Amino acid sequence: MPLSPDSLGVPASIAGSRPRVRFAPSPTGYLHVGGARTALFNWLYARHYRGTLILRIEDTDAERSTPEMVEGILQGMRWLGLNWDEGPFFQTDRVETYRGVAATLLASEHAYYCFCSKEDLEIRRAQATAEGRPPRYDGTCRNISSEEAARRKSGGEAAVVRFKVPQSGSTAFDDAVFGRVEFANAEVEDFVLLRSDNGPTYHLSVVADDIKMRITHVIRGADHISNTPKQVMIYEALGVPMPIFAHVPLILGPDKTRLSKRHGATSVLAYREEGIIPEAFRNFLALLGWTAPEGTPEILGDERLISLFDLNAISRSDAVFDRAKLDWFNTEYIRSYPSEKLLPLIEEEWAKAGIKNQIHDRQSLLATIELLKPRARSLKDFATSLRAFFTDDFETDPAATAKFLKDESVRQILIELAQRYETCDDFSEPGMEKLLRDLAAEKNVKAGALINGARVALTGQGVAPSLFAVMMALGKDRTVKRLKEIPF
Ligand code: GLU
Repeated sequence: MPLSPDSLGVPASIAGSRPRVRFAPSPTGYLHVGGARTALFNWLYARHYRGTLILRIEDTDAERSTPEMVEGILQGMRWLGLNWDEGPFFQTDRVETYRGVAATLLASEHAYYCFCSKEDLEIRRAQATAEGRPPRYDGTCRNISSEEAARRKSGGEAAVVRFKVPQSGSTAFDDAVFGRVEFANAEVEDFVLLRSDNGPTYHLSVVADDIKMRITHVIRGADHISNTPKQVMIYEALGVPMPIFAHVPLILGPDKTRLSKRHGATSVLAYREEGIIPEAFRNFLALLGWTAPEGTPEILGDERLISLFDLNAISRSDAVFDRAKLDWFNTEYIRSYPSEKLLPLIEEEWAKAGIKNQIHDRQSLLATIELLKPRARSLKDFATSLRAFFTDDFETDPAATAKFLKDESVRQILIELAQRYETCDDFSEPGMEKLLRDLAAEKNVKAGALINGARVALTGQGVAPSLFAVMMALGKDRTVKRLKEIPF
């Protein structure tokens, strides 16, 4: 019978079944690039081994967690295409579970009630610092007998529950990325498990949940390495096998400091706004801290990423976020995606920009996207510089007008050209080109001047695909109309 997340089970890795991993964001901010990379690595691992990805919202910090941030995280995960198999579970719904684990630790004397007031602790910490000692909890309440502690507690005295850290020896774990990690116990203070309001701390809730949810692999940011010994101690005190820890390196900005807003957008949803293809973003993120086997191209796609991904190729060195590289990935994906696959993504851009596509014939629409995709750097381009292909409601680049349409005679010749196109029978690329060149010769102007002017009239831009291909994409009626009625 499968265990429910609330039964205290043996981790599935030990039971020899498929991995169960989790992404456990705290909703104190949006889903940022670092969080998304952690989520992605968990997702890739789960998909590679056909395991289970659990989404757990660590919202016990009531002051800093908000429902908007939860929504932002879910939206970010959905946009990134990181589907999860169980959850979202909210830690605020599971507080009784954490209290139960704290009670177990109290009963086995791995934890104790501490009655020291906040004020006393502050004074003692300040004193320790002044005397050059580390400002750790000094163990005042560690030796209060459990009977006396229980009496004081039931008498209404405020108390926190602290973990009784072994005073000597060391605590170690084998990290799948960083290898053996060991901390001297003397360096670790008796940390708090339950606050005086009975609310759990991060260490308690994370371990309780990882046990109850039968997590086999904890894949998370390397900033959590220093938290891990405390968590290992809790596993050991409970006598429960530990999951495998895999800490992934940090992501830095180009100046080698930790990635932050100073380096540009850090919220994942900002990249949706910028017209990045989710799969391109996944590919880019995957390579921040994970190395594909030698000889593998950088453009991998989901299927290959999933089949190649494993923990042993995660690097120990910090990764550097390179925005230009992300744009390169995006451009490559736009170029290589079939138009059918691009269309729904482009439609989202149109919806955002309030554009109503006027190409109703699907084949023509796909052909137009096919024509344009080598020129797009972002999905957004289809709603900005390339919008004239899809709607008559477009604006013209004033610089392009000033450069190519300032000469009134060019405008006049373009009107004549439109009249010839209107009456011609052969609306084909060579046919249109011939009519244009013949007219240029007749009028004694350079064909290039007409080509450039017509390009601006038809697309609003000075740069576009081959003019005659543009005409084919627009069709005869729109070509004629735009050449005749240059509004600028
Ligand atoms: N909630 C923690 C965070 O957002 C993650 C805890 C964990 O993965 O163990 O940093």
